[in-house]
Amino acid sequence: MIHLKNSTQIALMKDAGRITGEALLVARDMIRPGISTYEIDQAIRSYIEKCGAKPAFLGYQGFPGSACISINDEVIHGIPSRNRILMDGDIVKIDTGATYRGYVGDSARTIPVGQVSDEAKKLIQVTRDSFWAGIDAVRVGNRLGDVGSAIDTVVRKNGFSTVRQYVGHGIGEAMHEAPDVPNYGTPGRGTRLCAGMTLAIEPMVNIGTHEVKVLPDGWTVKTLDGSLSAHYENTIALTSDGVLVLTEVEKGF
Ligand code: MG
Ligand code: MG
Repeated sequence: MIHLKNSTQIALMKDAGRITGEALLVARDMIRPGISTYEIDQAIRSYIEKCGAKPAFLGYQGFPGSACISINDEVIHGIPSRNRILMDGDIVKIDTGATYRGYVGDSARTIPVGQVSDEAKKLIQVTRDSFWAGIDAVRVGNRLGDVGSAIDTVVRKNGFSTVRQYVGHGIGEAMHEAPDVPNYGTPGRGTRLCAGMTLAIEPMVNIGTHEVKVLPDGWTVKTLDGSLSAHYENTIALTSDGVLVLTEVEKGF
């Protein structure tokens, strides 16, 4: 069942979204070669707690961190570790969430470490562009297939592939609510969009095959062919006045 939110609930989700977005800025500003993913995770946790919120990922289905931090061919769900050190040329995906006054924000960015290849830069840009193409299709009366198709069209046009095995989701009092929000689809198909929907839209884009595998740690998802992957996610609210991107706190990031 899809839980539609009223304006009071959406106002609360704005706060959760802002804290989540700010935590990602904290992470971005500390990313450099030589830092461990554990240090980034701890900074995110501290920031969220300082805001009076709770790290939504910490303990979620047993996840040990406050952020999923995934490097290069890792797609999502990387576990922060003192032994994972960022190196010049890496791309790192930071995915985090905050629960504030009963509502959850969820957002992810892909960030270059030092100097990265032109192909990596393009992948990051295309992934971001695909999200915003999806947002253009988030309108009352459209369907989720319109959104997924808009995302996937940008990805394919650039020669990349969209991960299909993992998708976006409804969000609110729980991090994962109905409906599933695939990053691919058929225009005119799928759930109809209406005012009060709050969704986490999150394209995951690979340079090579769309196929992925889970590592023996039970969490980390990698591309099957070892190609680079990027992720871009925001929590959004659809209102009768249009779309609010709740986790975007700095334009262009
Ligand atoms: Mg996320
Ligand atoms: Mg999500």
